[in-house]
Amino acid sequence: MMTDSPLAGRHALITGGGTGIGAATAKLLAAAGAKLSLLGRRIEPLRTIAATCGGIAVSCDVTDPDQVRAAFDQARTANGPIELMVANAGIAQSAPFHKMKRESWNDVIGTNLTAAFDCAREAIADLLASESGRLVFVASVASLRGVPYAAHYAASKHGLLGLMRSLAAEYAKTRLTVNAVCPGYVDTPMTDLSVARVSQITGRSEADARSAITSINASGRLVDPQAIANVIAMLCLPLSRDINGAAITIDGGTSA
Ligand code: NDP
Repeated sequence: MMTDSPLAGRHALITGGGTGIGAATAKLLAAAGAKLSLLGRRIEPLRTIAATCGGIAVSCDVTDPDQVRAAFDQARTANGPIELMVANAGIAQSAPFHKMKRESWNDVIGTNLTAAFDCAREAIADLLASESGRLVFVASVASLRGVPYAAHYAASKHGLLGLMRSLAAEYAKTRLTVNAVCPGYVDTPMTDLSVARVSQITGRSEADARSAITSINASGRLVDPQAIANVIAMLCLPLSRDINGAAITIDGGTSA
């Protein structure tokens, strides 16, 4: 049965909850009644979202396992056991493969994959104890195919699907579901950075660079972050208990 507040009182922890997809997800989960814990490195964007949605803002670099442990403890103290977790924090970088630095590889894999592993492990006992625990990874269309000049990013996002599918299989007989969303290019600060990077490297105007990136989506437009949030919120509903191990594309048909 659908109610106005299907997630009333449920504790949702969102990494990267201050901007883009994470902030849009925070708004929808709060509207559905969830109590929020928002994590990210910069406290100000987190506080801005918490001011409108409620919940707590916790400064945390997810690549540091000690900070993750402390932040999750702080979240539990404020909001109780974690019942919904959205592993959304991520970074994008680009370089031709022959110039790709190991440091950049480590940064991207460390943030997009290893930190998601740390966050999932930190939350897993709570998620399994919940009557309908939900773990959602924010992956990418780069989880499904190779990306020129972003081998590290595509490898990290492919890895995220391997992690998601393994957990979904391992916990299939429990009340926890584990899924991923795979967005195409979304209208967020990450895409703004990609536009600036392409413009700087190629010498094209920002408008041309944005148009080139936008046209990679088959729809010819950027995805609205609220569309991603909408699918994440749907996965968090109690009614979604039989959606497990899914990688849901929201990409305007790019991977069709
Ligand atoms: P944003 O840059 O707005 O969001 C990324 C978030 O991750 C920020 O809030 C950032 O906060 C947080 N973050 C990054 N590194 C860390 C870290 N070390 N510790 C804690 N938080 C961190 O862009 P999006 O909303 O687009 O990105 C969200 C997710 O969506 C990412 O995983 C991205 O890969 C994925 N995605 C995005 C697409 C797009 O086109 N934009 C397409 C497909 C997937 P802070 O900097 O304050 O730490």
